[in-house]
Amino acid sequence: MNRPTTLLIIAGSDSGGCAGIQADLRVSYHLQCHGVTAITALTAQNTQKVESVYPLSGEIVEDQLEAIMDDFTIDAVKIGMLFNQEIIETVTNFCRKHASLPIVLDPVCIATSGDLLLEDTAINGLVRDLIPYATLITPNLSEYQILLNHGFTLEYTNTLITGGDEGLKSVTDLLHLMSENTPTSFTNPKINTFNTHGSGCSLSTAIAVSLARGYCIKESVARAIALVHQGINMAKSMKITKGNGPLCFYTYAN
Ligand code: PLP
Repeated sequence: MNRPTTLLIIAGSDSGGCAGIQADLRVSYHLQCHGVTAITALTAQNTQKVESVYPLSGEIVEDQLEAIMDDFTIDAVKIGMLFNQEIIETVTNFCRKHASLPIVLDPVCIATSGDLLLEDTAINGLVRDLIPYATLITPNLSEYQILLNHGFTLEYTNTLITGGDEGLKSVTDLLHLMSENTPTSFTNPKINTFNTHGSGCSLSTAIAVSLARGYCIKESVARAIALVHQGINMAKSMKITKGNGPLCFYTYAN
């Protein structure tokens, strides 16, 4: 019998169903991959704002990871929102034990609405302890700037910097690989929509699924960018509610 590709998702829950664990599972299933989840934090949010964040204890995060590893064979790991130093330490210990797995780390710092999803005091630990275990990190431009301010350098980490806008017509993502001297750029036409909530989550999950299936980093990134572009393109004609809506990978029914 076939075992499906299995992705471990370590991330926060978005009650609005746009980003976080909800986006990650949506992308996993769309890519015919089984997603298992260790939830780090609950966010009470909708498409317009994050009302509150409830981090889970390091112990509960660890329990979820142990329960998963006792039973499943994991092909890759995607890490999203971590919120505080205690959770970063727990996840770092996990990555140390499973360092041979492909690990895609989306260093989630700020929600699309501008709300904080990572405590200031946790950023040093993220850069110093956890990032060294990542196969690839996927900061957007503002997250990249935050990491640089906390001592991050491109030299030691494969890094995809997303969201470089060239004027208003196109979006460029830049992939810096440690094995290559010049970055690879991926440019796509900019799609005029606010329905991009969860695009970073979706991108990093899609990359992790391809790495799990044995594609190289560059090919995994190219496939994931194409998928997210398609998801935003389909979302542009969808209106779920007032704020920033989710990506769309299929036609919804009503
Ligand atoms: N994770 C959670 C739980 C979130 O709520 C958010 C944003 O609201 C994110 C991650 C990052 O979302 P995006 O992919 O839009 O950057």
